[in-house]
Amino acid sequence: MTTEKVIIVTGGSGLVGKAIEWVIENDNGRFGRKDGEKWIFLTKATRAIFEKYKPTHVIHLAALVGGLFKNLKYKLDFLRDNLLINDNVLHTAHEYKVEKVVSCLSTCVFPDKTTYPIDETMIHNGPPHHSNFGYAYAKRLIDTQNKAYFDQFGHRFTSVIPTNVFGPHDNYDLQDSHVIPGLIHKCYLAKKNGTPFVVAGTGKPLRQFIYSRDLAKLFIWVLREYDQIDPIILSVGEKDEVSIKDVADTIVKYLGFGGSYSFDTTKADGQFKKTASNAKLLSYLPDFEFTQFDVAIQESVNWFLENYDKAR
Ligand code: GDP
Repeated sequence: MTTEKVIIVTGGSGLVGKAIEWVIENDNGRFGRKDGEKWIFLTKATRAIFEKYKPTHVIHLAALVGGLFKNLKYKLDFLRDNLLINDNVLHTAHEYKVEKVVSCLSTCVFPDKTTYPIDETMIHNGPPHHSNFGYAYAKRLIDTQNKAYFDQFGHRFTSVIPTNVFGPHDNYDLQDSHVIPGLIHKCYLAKKNGTPFVVAGTGKPLRQFIYSRDLAKLFIWVLREYDQIDPIILSVGEKDEVSIKDVADTIVKYLGFGGSYSFDTTKADGQFKKTASNAKLLSYLPDFEFTQFDVAIQESVNWFLENYDKAR
């Protein structure tokens, strides 16, 4: 007889939490719901919730997050809020003898001055980029804490490092969001109001984007099958890296925006690139199929249009 797995997902109403919920409900293949699993998606994680559900597994997504411009403004908030959230979740998981925790890092944890492609062994090799050091150090410490929980208590607390995530349920705020939802919203308004579409920065920085529903499948796989404490990068390959201009062009295409657009080079570019290797992921899942970037942008644009009234 196998005992029931009770999985709580902190940050269950966010971009990645909603995508995991979607895959659990809709995937008929290896990533969908399995017998003997009970999934609970939380909007806040408190001791009372651990007491109520007695989880055996935790996917920890809750965090203070935001795009480049929000990170530049709130360094201390990003550092402190995330340190406190992470310590609260990990230590409560420890106290409730949770079997496994999968926490979410980000490629901005990596050192700014580095060789490419970046891999999982390089997280602590030098200072992160100055634009988001608050968030980056708080997230790096999850890896440190995971290793300490393993060394001192033998706990299986691990982490994943996704590249830039986007998809349905993203935060589409005009100031504080990440680039894809921000540009979808700006391009939509430019089309609707007949105003210019202005992209921040030079358009030259490069990013690897992962669709939230692909990332969700990989989270579910990590929870069930990945047994290292060391983190794993969850990303499309290096050849699938695109420029911010490519992103803007694709959004223009799927929103059917006819006007011209420009780049505001007085705005920050942030890190030029943070090209990451997905070789470790592919060594486990060589046949994983990522959604085409175009298709994923189209689905995100459609979601935004259909949910304009309730989008964040
Ligand atoms: P990052 O990978 O943490 O830097 O994540 P972002 O999603 O914030 O992407 C930032 C890159 O997109 C920078 O090169 C910005 O200059 C560029 N960018 C262009 N327009 C926007 C926008 O409206 N919002 C954000 N966040 N970035 C933008």
